[in-house]
Amino acid sequence: MRVAQELLEELVTANRILAREGIVDSFGHVSIRHPGIPDHYLMSRARAPECIEVDDVMAFTLDGVAIDAAGRKSYAERFIHGAIYEVRPDVHAVVHHHSHGVIPFGITGTPLRPLIPLSAAMGTEVPTWDSRTRFGDTNLLVTNMAMARDLAATLGNRSVALMRGHGCVVASGSLRAVVFDSVYLNLNADLQMQAHALGEITFLSRGEIQAVLDTRGAFTYERAWERWCRRAGRPYDLRPMEGPLADLV
Ligand SMILES: [Zn+2]
Repeated sequence: MRVAQELLEELVTANRILAREGIVDSFGHVSIRHPGIPDHYLMSRARAPECIEVDDVMAFTLDGVAIDAAGRKSYAERFIHGAIYEVRPDVHAVVHHHSHGVIPFGITGTPLRPLIPLSAAMGTEVPTWDSRTRFGDTNLLVTNMAMARDLAATLGNRSVALMRGHGCVVASGSLRAVVFDSVYLNLNADLQMQAHALGEITFLSRGEIQAVLDTRGAFTYERAWERWCRRAGRPYDLRPMEGPLADLV
């Protein structure tokens, strides 16, 4: 099934934004569930996100098999994405990244918690997945479905899971939301480190987190997306609130 050009462009834009905002560097990746084939997802070939073009995007089965690789190499850790889509029908976009802000929380056991409304999507509890618990001494990369499914189980019905000594996964209902949540997850981590040096932190309460999520609208994502497009040198395309592309908002 042919994928709309604008959807491919949107995925390229997501890659460029994540790179421009410092969430991914040479590594890390973002995917979207295939809009016409729910058990497929779309993601770039193995390439630094800052360099990705439309022709790099490939479709994958949930098991991580590229449909039409045509010689293009896949990310070694692509399995992360399919394992989440497999058990989370509500998830339509996934980011796996190694942003510098989140790493300290994954290796110390210090809970990462939201302290500003913009990072509320992480919820009241951010679990940490440790590959060593079930898989022993590995290179820490998620290179098969067994590891990816174990990670997806740790994520559960949440939006974020940290990965010990590695990075994190962020899952959301749309591409613009998952980019938004990835950027503000990293900012929250930086701010929590700074605040911790000053004293005791007052985090958002469970009720405040819910209130933020209940009132967050597409306009929030659009405000950020337009600015990030500008910074990444990509055209900004306001998404319709209804219709086949609405779930991208
Ligand atoms: Zn990784």
